[in-house]
Amino acid sequence: MNPYEMACYQLERAAEIAGIDEDIVEYLKVPDRAVEVKVPVRMDDGSIRVFTGYRVQHCGVRGPYKGGIRYHPSVTMDEVKALAMWMTWKCAVVNIPYGGGKGGVRVDVKMLSRNELERLTRRFTAMLIPFIGPERDIPAPDMYTDEQIMAWMMDTYSVYQGYSVPGIVTGKPVALGGSLGRNSATGRGVAIITRESATAIGMELKDADVAIQGFGNVGYWTAKTLFEMGANIVAVTDSRGGVYDENGLNPDELMEHKKKTGSVAGFRDEHISNEELLTMKTDVLIPAAVENVINKNNMRRINARMIVEAANGPITPKAEEYLNRKCELVVPDILANSGGVVVSYFEWVQDLERYFWDLEKVNAELERILVRAFESMINVKQEYGNILWRDASMVLALNNVVEALKMRGIFP
Ligand code: NAD
Repeated sequence: MNPYEMACYQLERAAEIAGIDEDIVEYLKVPDRAVEVKVPVRMDDGSIRVFTGYRVQHCGVRGPYKGGIRYHPSVTMDEVKALAMWMTWKCAVVNIPYGGGKGGVRVDVKMLSRNELERLTRRFTAMLIPFIGPERDIPAPDMYTDEQIMAWMMDTYSVYQGYSVPGIVTGKPVALGGSLGRNSATGRGVAIITRESATAIGMELKDADVAIQGFGNVGYWTAKTLFEMGANIVAVTDSRGGVYDENGLNPDELMEHKKKTGSVAGFRDEHISNEELLTMKTDVLIPAAVENVINKNNMRRINARMIVEAANGPITPKAEEYLNRKCELVVPDILANSGGVVVSYFEWVQDLERYFWDLEKVNAELERILVRAFESMINVKQEYGNILWRDASMVLALNNVVEALKMRGIFP
């Protein structure tokens, strides 16, 4: 299945559980708008290269479209359509007033100079101006795009408007209207959802053993927040290996070591590989690196009570089917890693109001929204006869979208 077929399949599955009419499902399979644009760039050697850019707006019934822009050589329209649909569900599950969007440029950024990257970003933004806007569609960073690229997008859009429009993108530098707490938001959200999930299955998070694969942005902030909540971080890995200590690891000390050496490996004597981490006996396993790391090859050896999907799609569907029977709980990515989009929403709200919050307010509001989403998901789970958490999250999201769609009706 290509990603778009997969997204449609997941929609059909959730719609069947929720009893959604077939014509509504057909409506939701197709994005509201999908644009493909030419992005010509004057290269440093004077030649011209033409890249292809995409922006897909999946479903705008709940508000403006929201979603990242990725720069990657394998970006396709089908991939962007799938990612835009997933963003609709991710925004709806936490009940923030957005529809899903996603965009990308088919380019290998490693082949571009910084000046070429800036020209590409500015031309791509200019090509999207008729379609994006703070009330219309608000891009954000994704793979191989960062706050500098958001700053160039914001500047390009603002030059065309004739005044500063910080609310055109999120994930900007704080100096341009970015939000405090955006960097930590996804990992902090993973920790909050882990805490709520542990309580739901009667697990005491304090002193629970936690193993985390990946020590980048999400892995580090997840580890740090869980450590502050009293959990015992027993193992951490990154792409170069990992470290184990049954007495617990301090995430800030680990980060210091990683900054010095480039990896968490070697922090203590006891080394652990990625595969050993995934299959070790632990209370909580948090894959926070890349997709498909838990699959048919290792699913039978997984030995965790609970798995929390911090990365997007770390468990293949086949492995998940098996692990839903073996583990006490698998917490789906759509809920577990939604903290990032929630604080992106806060960034946009602050930009529109031109009034900026302190970090305590950002974190308190994040906590409030995620706990509310978690409770809504549990209610849906019970209402539909104790369905799986992934299905309950999808049904919650779908019901929120369909309710808005039915009330707005079909124009004309
Ligand atoms: P990152 O690049 O900051 O960190 C990735 C980490 O994973 C690094 O420590 C890297 O060494 C490690 N890693 C890479 N390949 C690995 C492998 N094969 N085995 C073990 N470790 C490996 O990325 P991130 O922003 O922390 O994102 C991690 C995951 O979370 C991704 O799936 C991303 O899509 C998802 N996610 C991120 C955000 C966000 O706000 N950053 C939001 C939602 C979802």
